[in-house]
Amino acid sequence: MHRVRPLPAYLVQRYHGWKATGWHENRAWYRRLADEGQRPRAMVVSCCDSRVHVTSIFGADQGEFFIHRNIANLVPPYEQDGAQHGTSAAVEYAVTALHVAHVIVLGHSQCGGVQGCVDMCEGRAPHLEDGSSFVGRWMDILRPGYDRIKDDPHPARALEKEAVVVSLTNLMTFPFVRAAVDAGQLTLHGLWTDIGEGNLEFWDPATGAFKPV
Ligand SMILES: [Zn+2]
Repeated sequence: MHRVRPLPAYLVQRYHGWKATGWHENRAWYRRLADEGQRPRAMVVSCCDSRVHVTSIFGADQGEFFIHRNIANLVPPYEQDGAQHGTSAAVEYAVTALHVAHVIVLGHSQCGGVQGCVDMCEGRAPHLEDGSSFVGRWMDILRPGYDRIKDDPHPARALEKEAVVVSLTNLMTFPFVRAAVDAGQLTLHGLWTDIGEGNLEFWDPATGAFKPV
């Protein structure tokens, strides 16, 4: 581990700035969060993309959202194979231990992961089709979604939204998610945000379309 280095100076500086202001002015609040534990009302599944600012668009404070981020905000289908499933572990903990009332899947515009999936499915990304590509194998989750939208004139945009629907569908394959939904203790929500415009749309299951929030 000798290649691990101390933080770069600009981050050290920023941290001390936050400790002296953001933390210091709210220290009682942070103390309470530490003492009382977390009780988030919602889990959010969003993309790793640095432009997707989950807490900013909802004005959320620490302790409000249990957030899981991965490439293209995907939830894989329920699978009991003894392998290591990070996303499924996060869903399990949120639903069965934290008892969140909502699971929100948040897709976004200009998603590089989704674009990669389109390229892969259209034969333009052999590096993603290679069995050694973690991104490619992860994006396989979205292949059935691509098949549904492939005739759309804007396949990347259509697939960004379809990825949200795929994740919502896969969430319901988890027995503990289905049980909580059936019991009326959990609701699922699908959202897509336009980074440039700041717009937010929600998936309406009645029409199968996204509409402005
Ligand atoms: Zn993305």
